Amino acid sequence: MSKALNILNEIFGYPAFRGQQAEIVSHLTNGGDCLVLMPTGGGKSLCYQIPALLREGVAIIVSPLIALMQNQATALNEIGVRAAVLNSSLSTEEAGLVEQQLLAGDHDLLYVAPERLLTGRFLHLITRIPIALFAIDEAHCVSQWGHDFRPEYSQLSILHERFPTVPRIALTATADTDTRQEIIERLGLDKARVFISSFDRPNIRYHIIDKANSRSQLLAFILAEHRNDSGIVYCLSRKKVEETAAWLVSHGMRALAYHAGMSTQVRSMNQERFLREEGIIMVATIAFGMGIDKPDVRFVAHLDLPRSIESYYQETGRAGRDGQPANAWMVYGLSDVIQQRRMIEESEAHIKFKQVAARKLEAMLSLCETTTCRRAHIMNYFGETTEMAACGNCDVCLNPPQVWDATLEVQKALSCVYRTSQNFGAGHLIDILRGNLTERVKKWHHDKISTFGIGKDLSEKTWRAIFRQMIALGFLTTANDNYGALQLADACRPVLKGKQTVVLRQLTKSAHSSEKEKAHDMLPSSAAERYLWERLRTWRARTAQEHGVPAYVIFHDATLRELVRLCPQTEDELRQITGIGTRKLDKYGNHLIEILRGS
Ligand code: ADP
Ligand code: ZN
Repeated sequence: MSKALNILNEIFGYPAFRGQQAEIVSHLTNGGDCLVLMPTGGGKSLCYQIPALLREGVAIIVSPLIALMQNQATALNEIGVRAAVLNSSLSTEEAGLVEQQLLAGDHDLLYVAPERLLTGRFLHLITRIPIALFAIDEAHCVSQWGHDFRPEYSQLSILHERFPTVPRIALTATADTDTRQEIIERLGLDKARVFISSFDRPNIRYHIIDKANSRSQLLAFILAEHRNDSGIVYCLSRKKVEETAAWLVSHGMRALAYHAGMSTQVRSMNQERFLREEGIIMVATIAFGMGIDKPDVRFVAHLDLPRSIESYYQETGRAGRDGQPANAWMVYGLSDVIQQRRMIEESEAHIKFKQVAARKLEAMLSLCETTTCRRAHIMNYFGETTEMAACGNCDVCLNPPQVWDATLEVQKALSCVYRTSQNFGAGHLIDILRGNLTERVKKWHHDKISTFGIGKDLSEKTWRAIFRQMIALGFLTTANDNYGALQLADACRPVLKGKQTVVLRQLTKSAHSSEKEKAHDMLPSSAAERYLWERLRTWRARTAQEHGVPAYVIFHDATLRELVRLCPQTEDELRQITGIGTRKLDKYGNHLIEILRGS
């Protein structure tokens, strides 16, 4: 094990293993199979990279993400580790060269796409060389129920049949027990040791706020907390993606768009720029993200509601992979609830799928409406029992929402739905409650019913929030065939009968109204430190460009931040900095010392 630690210190430049890494490395190095469930950013790669260096032969890493493979190999080459990729992005000649190198024992790690691995030619090739291990990354791709299903993955059990003595490690960031079971069955890992880490991402701060004017809210958020930071903004539709990107650009932001309707060329150009340049905001549909291994994404913003907590967690999980503070920020309103409900109802899917989708949406809504810690709520949903009642790093903890007894108002609203025969949407119902004599109200004689004007005392905004929560709580549903009409659901009976009180959230005033909830400290505070930070960033950007790699491949933000904080002046001091191993010290040490000494 001291050898493993030595590699961690010298080659990767990290002082210590994180969480279960040490145990996993030792188990795999000793020839054991394992299944590793660890959240995004938890440090899965080291779990097979270090055994790959400790065991004889080449480690074969199966990954479905072509763009990511190349980045991983480049990052390894940067620290002096011999790694290569084999996938469809290579020409026949290039692939042939990698194969020759393999036979000559020139590589310690080989990243390969599953379809390539499964060819007779490749399987034969690797019988001729010693193999250190097989790593199956993104192992949830074997799950037929998941949205990342890859048919080739279900054939990967062949590895164990053909190479029974080579240890295997399967890795995923998907937490649920069904998927876990499916991975074990389909990959034949029933004897494997299972390592489950906590799925908490303590560096991510969650905010879910009432939607008013989402674009301006977004801009205010970015200006307040993320000037010059990389971030992702998710929208539901292509049109909204384009409009939002254009709008941000017109306000001086460096924003790009990404959705499946754009040409492949433009899409990959934008993705490439997002990865390589600093401070780009990617406005995208959920088509963007899988395989984006950018460690320094500082925020993920949602302008529309994700369809489940799983999606929300996966998407927000793209922030802060480097462990540094990051924000997950979302605006959410009545229209989101109605839109998502309608999408489920109108989908062609089988009734069973619709029921699952409806359940998942309800869970997502309950996360939005919760009056207790968001993080605890999420962990609970994933079946993790937490001691933590309040994390201190989400909007609810930092700025506890006010709640109020809304029983009477909810009764009024429900009765208004009933008296209009469950045929109308929220807008019209609110007009009736507030006593607005609109054309529509007159046309249907709704000024004559008993609920007309009984909710004058509350603003339209408040009523919208009440309706939103009534839908989220399952008192009202949207009708199948009737555009936007709200209907009474069974759950509202006890409320109508006066047997249940209803406590609702009060509208949040603004995103950051509380003193406590000030921006978390992402930048150095003193002028001298900021100057040093900027110099280091400039140097890093230039060096990255010279090497043709993303900036974070040179050094992570975490490393730069530590350099600014500790300001090392000698090689020995530099060696102590996280992320500086032997190779990078040799390559960049002198430049860094020059900058740090201010010469
Ligand atoms: P995952 O694949 O689980 O999403 P990665 O393997 O990409 O995560 O690791 C996430 C980040 O954490 C990377 O920047 C990696 O360099 C860093 N990291 C991993 N293990 C350690 C460690 N023991 N000490 C410091 N940083 C680490
Ligand atoms: Zn919290």
